Amino acid sequence: MSLVEEKTTTTGTTAAPDSTRRDFLRTLFGTAGLAAIAATPAGKMLEDKTAVAVFTIAQQTGAVPEIDTNADVITRMNADLARALQKQPAERRWVMVIDLRKCVGCHACTIACVAENKLPPGVVYRPVLEEEWGTYPNVGRRFVPRPCMQCENPPCVPVCPVGATFTNEEGIVEMNYERCIGCRYCITACPYSARTADFGFTYNEGLPIAEGLILGQTTADDYERISNFEYGRGYDRPEGKRSSPIGNARKCHFCQHRIKEGILPACVTTCIGRATYFGDANDPFALVTGLVASPNVMRLKEELGTEPRVYYLT
Ligand code: SF4
Ligand code: SF4
Repeated sequence: MSLVEEKTTTTGTTAAPDSTRRDFLRTLFGTAGLAAIAATPAGKMLEDKTAVAVFTIAQQTGAVPEIDTNADVITRMNADLARALQKQPAERRWVMVIDLRKCVGCHACTIACVAENKLPPGVVYRPVLEEEWGTYPNVGRRFVPRPCMQCENPPCVPVCPVGATFTNEEGIVEMNYERCIGCRYCITACPYSARTADFGFTYNEGLPIAEGLILGQTTADDYERISNFEYGRGYDRPEGKRSSPIGNARKCHFCQHRIKEGILPACVTTCIGRATYFGDANDPFALVTGLVASPNVMRLKEELGTEPRVYYLT
């Protein structure tokens, strides 16, 4: 069965009927207020959101945020992110939306992730899967980037015997490398193959290192051993020493260390097709909130009940 065919379609929303929604907005903003809002770029978005969500955000902020719908989506998502970070962590619902119609299979996101998290050989957080479809001569090729789905019901968590993987307060499934004993139960439990084991390799391993033999080799070796920024801590790979995350399970964490600083995940900012979106789906004005309400949205293996926070547009 193909990657895309095996999933069911969902809108992921509980939107009220249009008439109910408009009635509610009219009650909330008044007829004149509703007309004024409808004239703004955010107005169209308001029409697309659930009344309850609109009520919540209006209560919290007292205003509809100014949204430049002509801006590049990265600029727009930066503003969404800044707004989300003003809320309490538990009030956010981070989601990623990947538009499969825009993905050209360049793998830039994969490489950006490897560089950002300084991933060793064999560890990839965000591969781009490829599959062919159709029958000759009507054939095509599609590309499916596959980060961790950040499941709301993650099968990888309850199987861990030492509590080394858990869902944090803002819904991201993260790792505690210090606790992990490397049993790899979680790798087996993940239905998306989103976890890999770190066996401690480096890309320069086994190469004869001699001054000038390979240009930049020594620098590259140093680079592989210095700390990354995962989970806001930093884990280096000293030569001849086995320390975390070597021997542990590893996975995508939505670049939490960047999010906390108001920077979008590396895969999002690197995507040349602007095919990857990120933001707080609890914010009715966020770009992603409109996208997850699209009729052409779906999630992988939804029938398993894992409730992924990664959505695909087809
Ligand atoms: S590999 Fe680590 S995180 Fe995974 S189940 Fe085993 S101890 Fe837990
Ligand atoms: S995709 Fe896999 S690793 Fe990620 S939360 Fe779900 S079960 Fe865990």
